[in-house]
Amino acid sequence: MSFTQILDTISAGIIILDRDLKVLKWNNWLERYSSIKAEEIQGKSIFKYFPNLDVPWFLRNCKSVFAFGNFSFFSQKIHNYCFPFKNVTTLDTSFEYMQQNCTMGPIRDEASQVQYIYILVQDVTDIADYEKKLTEINNRDGLTGLYNRMYLNIQLDDEVNRLKRYGRKFSLIMLDIDHFKAINDNYGHLCGDQVLRNISGLLGKHKRAVDVIARYGGEEFCCLLPETSLEEAEIVAERIRTTVEKAVFLYEDSNINVTVSLGLTEAKDPSLSLEDILKKADDALYQAKKGGRNQVVKMVF
Ligand code: GH3
Ligand code: MG
Ligand code: MG
Repeated sequence: MSFTQILDTISAGIIILDRDLKVLKWNNWLERYSSIKAEEIQGKSIFKYFPNLDVPWFLRNCKSVFAFGNFSFFSQKIHNYCFPFKNVTTLDTSFEYMQQNCTMGPIRDEASQVQYIYILVQDVTDIADYEKKLTEINNRDGLTGLYNRMYLNIQLDDEVNRLKRYGRKFSLIMLDIDHFKAINDNYGHLCGDQVLRNISGLLGKHKRAVDVIARYGGEEFCCLLPETSLEEAEIVAERIRTTVEKAVFLYEDSNINVTVSLGLTEAKDPSLSLEDILKKADDALYQAKKGGRNQVVKMVF
């Protein structure tokens, strides 16, 4: 079996470049995914077909392979797409382009001189897709599909850092369902679960693309509103309160009404910690409960 036959059998892309970065070998796999025939590209500069590679980091790596015979590794996460091929995987993925890992290394002659470089292109779309889906599942609450507390904390941390570094304000709303225990006691736990899902759906309707709505605890929710003043957040909170108040949730033959209490605060002081801000919103929520429930209370620092 010839060397070429082996290269054409493997299920990965193999490119061999000469010292002028002209293509010496373009294997079958690459023909299939790029729609560029070997006889077309071989003998031509790689940059003629992939001008995106005519950039300092790529040239630097090629030079280094020829000079020192070392290996380099590229991933589109860092270097963008080296070889942008349309994603043709049979799995339902959200990637438009094939996710690739590329390795570059030396090919030596009998005198151990580096004469060529090879680039190995591997399709890692399936792995990247699983990774993306797992991350997404990890960030979500299983019952409501909203973000979970862990994800919220990461986002809150980012907002606090933005506040410290760039002085960007944000508001935080804490929401707790009123007398939720009574719903479980009167209609059963499954009904309680249904109400949690329904309220989550209503919260989602009031959300802007940048807002983060999370299930913070059992029947507690949190809305993080970046770049939002206390007054703007109060309008959102009041709208949520009246929407829930007016909604009628149907469970089996029962019409169920619920109300919510909301506490909110605005973070605009860079000296505040995440704990300070959460505590302030929680204190406001406590006041809303104490004040008779089904109301919005705001608190400033
Ligand atoms: P308050 O107006 O003071 O908030 O009264 P409450 O009854 O809502 O508050 P309490 O904290 O006494 O009860 C919360 C209840 O929420 C108790 C708990 O069983 C219920 N709960 C927490 N998580 C879930 C869940 O995932 N599903 C259901 N069905 N119930 C839950
Ligand atoms: Mg409650
Ligand atoms: Mg509670």
